Amino acid sequence: MFQAFPPLVFEPLFRSYLWGGRRLATKLGKNLPAEGIWAESWEIVDHPQGQSIVQAGPWQGWSLGQLVQEHPVAILGSRSYGSIGSARPVEAISRFPLLLKYLDCQNVLSVQVHPDDAYGSQMKTPDLGKTEAWYIIDAQPGSLLYAGLKDGVSQADLAQAIRAGKTEDCLHALMPSPGDCIFIPAGTVHALGAGLVVAEIQQASDCTFRLYDWDRVDASGSPRPLHIEQALEVIDFDRGPVDPILPVSRGVGLGEKLVDCDKFRLTRLSQSASYELDLSTCQIVAVPQGTATLETDHGQIELRTGQSALVPHACGQAKLTVGCDTTVLAAQPVFASDSFCGGTP
Ligand SMILES: [Zn+2]
Repeated sequence: MFQAFPPLVFEPLFRSYLWGGRRLATKLGKNLPAEGIWAESWEIVDHPQGQSIVQAGPWQGWSLGQLVQEHPVAILGSRSYGSIGSARPVEAISRFPLLLKYLDCQNVLSVQVHPDDAYGSQMKTPDLGKTEAWYIIDAQPGSLLYAGLKDGVSQADLAQAIRAGKTEDCLHALMPSPGDCIFIPAGTVHALGAGLVVAEIQQASDCTFRLYDWDRVDASGSPRPLHIEQALEVIDFDRGPVDPILPVSRGVGLGEKLVDCDKFRLTRLSQSASYELDLSTCQIVAVPQGTATLETDHGQIELRTGQSALVPHACGQAKLTVGCDTTVLAAQPVFASDSFCGGTP
């Protein structure tokens, strides 16, 4: 029915920001340019800010955006169009909804918040909102991150603290360990801290409001812009402190649930086992550590530390064999038309 869609491996897109380092190369095996500070490797993205390009195989040279435009059901599955077989899409798919990246946080990131879809769609350049989840790959001793506000911090409290240069006092700080997963729904104040290497799955959005940038300046000596008014507007002041989620088994052979939200399902696969991937929609597969083998009708792909693939809906079937000392993250988009409706992780 569909053309053959093997698993898609994309060229990583490296981003240089002032808080980056060299660990995308040293920890995750990325082929970074010899010089420079590199903060992010965008692995799977379809956004005006970046387009993943297929590395090899029959779709080599295609962008993810082109693939989603021309073969939406083969990539995303018919759930992206509402009930199976419905002729009219109930949810217009204009682009791939999720973004996968790896981050090397050599320094602390700005304190920021992202809006939800409703707010994002009203912006001058409309975009999705951004709900995200972090998976901690590496943490130098003493590394901190900030997730949510301390209990009881109100909008007035935070506004006053920002004016007084005391934003940090309002933030919930924690010291994460490798393997921790932190869920940051739209509206949650957050900052990744110095010393962390992270895999992040998020909505493919560029809507970020910065509250505080630690009084830093960039290479040219200027501070990065802040967006305090909009940030105060979109922060969820009822969210409170956010701690790492507790993984829960999804059942035998199904891995551990990290996040089920209205934007994505994130599952951890480990323990030297084989898993049949659910391809009711597509699956993003990321390997923060170790080696995994992806077997499909189209052949076998080995994925090593720092690599990733997109297994399209129309791939047929896919078996993932996870090696020892290996962690794999599997992420699936969730569509508004899905009967599954979120739940608080
Ligand atoms: Zn963020």
